Amino acid sequence: MAESSIEWTEMTWNPTTGCDKISAGCKYCYAEVMTRRLQAMGIEKYKDGFAIRTHEDTLHIPYTWTSSKVVFVNSMSDLFHPQVPLEFIQKVFAVMNGTPQHTYQVLTKRAQRLYELHHLLNWTKNIWMGVSVEDERVTGRIDFLRETNARIKFLSCEPLIGPLQNMNLENINWVIVGGESGRKARPMKEWWVWDIKQQCDEKDIPFFFKQWGGVNKKKSGRTLGGRTYDKMPV
Ligand code: SF4
Repeated sequence: MAESSIEWTEMTWNPTTGCDKISAGCKYCYAEVMTRRLQAMGIEKYKDGFAIRTHEDTLHIPYTWTSSKVVFVNSMSDLFHPQVPLEFIQKVFAVMNGTPQHTYQVLTKRAQRLYELHHLLNWTKNIWMGVSVEDERVTGRIDFLRETNARIKFLSCEPLIGPLQNMNLENINWVIVGGESGRKARPMKEWWVWDIKQQCDEKDIPFFFKQWGGVNKKKSGRTLGGRTYDKMPV
């Protein structure tokens, strides 16, 4: 568990670690870079590098937090990766079900597996389920998400590397947009962001603009048209 600098959450909780790349949004995966760093530092949890591992010893952690938290689940992995056993996903859900004082944000690129398993999971209202949608090639993930029993469904359009025009946002409760950051960051066009915001406005969906990104993300900032957009699901 760690406090997070990610603008739309408070802390991270990683009951699984490791992953592998599945689509263009993964190209400069932050989790992979961080994992290599932590492995090099000799951190036990990351001794197997970016291979998928489940960590039973992390399951008690949310019970130890004394105040309610907003928690990004698995910033260093993908809970719905095919190598994460259903039984372990159910254990993670049991923890989330048992700690309703916390709000959990689960984000996946494995939307099809999410859809296949969703009816075997208990979707208490403190669990927000999101899919990453980085360009038009992966908008099918939204359709899988829409069909799940998650009470709050969200999109993380980050790193946004192409336009996302005319999305079907039916039953979507929140949209986050952000540009890629880092030395080789792929550029995000301003009109792509405005277009998504307009789609959200038309459906009254909370819109969160996380960052422009780029080589110096602090400098490029997170204002759009002179202001910030930080809406969250009610
Ligand atoms: S799905 Fe996420 S964690 Fe996995 S490789 Fe892609 S960006 Fe990294």
